[in-house]
Amino acid sequence: MSKVRVRFAPSPTGPLHIGGVRTALYNYLFAKKHKGEIILRIEDTDQSRFVKGAEDYIIESLNWCGIKFDESIAKPGNYGPYRQSDRKLLYLQYAEQLLQSGHAYYAFDTQEELSQMREDMKNAGIPSPQYNSITRVGMKNSLSLSEDEVKKRIKSGEKYVIRIKMPRNEEVKINDLIRGWVIVNTNNMDDKVIFKSDGMPTYHLANVVDDYLMKISHVIRGEEWLPSAPLHVLLYDFLGWSNKMPEFAHLPLILKPDGNGKLSKRDGDRLGFPVFPTQWQNPETGDISSGYRESGYYANAFINMLSFLGWNPGTTQEIFSMEELIESFSLERVGKAGAKFDFDKTRWFNQQYLRKKSKEELCKDLQLILKSELIVKDDFFVSQVCEQLKERATFISEMWYEGRYYFLRPESYDEKTVRKKWKEETPDLLEELKNKLEPLIDFSSENIEKEFKAYLLEKEIGMGRLLPAFRLSLTGLGMGPSLFEIATLLGKKEVIDRMENAIKNIK
Ligand code: GLU
Repeated sequence: MSKVRVRFAPSPTGPLHIGGVRTALYNYLFAKKHKGEIILRIEDTDQSRFVKGAEDYIIESLNWCGIKFDESIAKPGNYGPYRQSDRKLLYLQYAEQLLQSGHAYYAFDTQEELSQMREDMKNAGIPSPQYNSITRVGMKNSLSLSEDEVKKRIKSGEKYVIRIKMPRNEEVKINDLIRGWVIVNTNNMDDKVIFKSDGMPTYHLANVVDDYLMKISHVIRGEEWLPSAPLHVLLYDFLGWSNKMPEFAHLPLILKPDGNGKLSKRDGDRLGFPVFPTQWQNPETGDISSGYRESGYYANAFINMLSFLGWNPGTTQEIFSMEELIESFSLERVGKAGAKFDFDKTRWFNQQYLRKKSKEELCKDLQLILKSELIVKDDFFVSQVCEQLKERATFISEMWYEGRYYFLRPESYDEKTVRKKWKEETPDLLEELKNKLEPLIDFSSENIEKEFKAYLLEKEIGMGRLLPAFRLSLTGLGMGPSLFEIATLLGKKEVIDRMENAIKNIK
């Protein structure tokens, strides 16, 4: 294999959907696996779809994901510039080359004329009319007009586009690394615009020219680009670059959780989960779309989840670090079928990564939240809390929401538990228990538990008669981690105070 050079080529038309991140990830894994290079190229030739802030957003999001580029706007290599609008002057010569070799032509048709043509064709019973080898003869272009007329129009400054001249009845073959042979007849392809009247190339020309000039060896991109691939193959051919053509791999779609169609940008709001790596604020409306980062996901959990949307390692291993992914990844193990997005699985991955963190790491993150809540606790206390809550949490923020009682006294008590477990006898039992705990010198969880059990034995009552009420008094809740562990962490004075509060306040 020649040197592997791949590119991720987003258009800055808005935030990067997770499908785009998955494309970037697979490119990255493929490049690193083969000791190759990955390039970030910004494809901004469509000025009408340009969205302010999108480029920065894309760069920052990929950075958060840990996808590092060997060449980019910020890190130019030998094949720059890396933003297509900065390469503008470069494309015209290739459009001209195609004109000269007869593979492209000028077209002067106005929007009205194009609409008229489509309408006429529809009326004639053609459901999806195209500008192609049949219709082009009736339009205003350098194939239908005389040479003089064409020159005159160009000289007078009339607006024109350059279109590819699709050959008649030829087969274009692509051996896609994922899909196998794809064969399309040129009769089913239209004369796409390759150069626009604003002096910019279209995506197709710019993409092919740049892949060639940047020495791209493999084009790995979403399935939505498969219909464009035959045109790209023809462009390589017409430009005389066939022997330098990259290999193609079109990745399967990411589907909605129910498998019904492509996961769209709007599905996130509808289904209540983020579809963007990081939060995005629409610069025009100010609307905010949630992101995985801001929702508390770890970047490596997010990446691990994404890696499985279309690829599998062929083993039962599910947790992969980036290094392990690089090691295991191959395009052969990328499927053709669309991959259903599974939000529960995404949460599961985060939970697994949270569990793998040391208590010191978790403590650091939880301290940040506590600080914003103006709660001051020493690291020892906070890491103990993390240790106790670790198995129950998916996000670090849950340790605060669900473990508030470690830091603040309960102000209310779970109603359902009160109704079910707080009986007439409870205040007296709790009072007696309190009197047993108060003289303890050793307030370790084992000792508290021992004392608690001895008291149950003395009263000849079961756990259920007192433990829920004890928990309620310390935490305000009906469920949680080991209560004796909580008690020892809170310390004797706090435990006694909370028991007294509960006896006084729960009715
Ligand atoms: N600019 C295209 C996009 O936004 C890139 C497609 C390709 O990779 O060729 O997805």
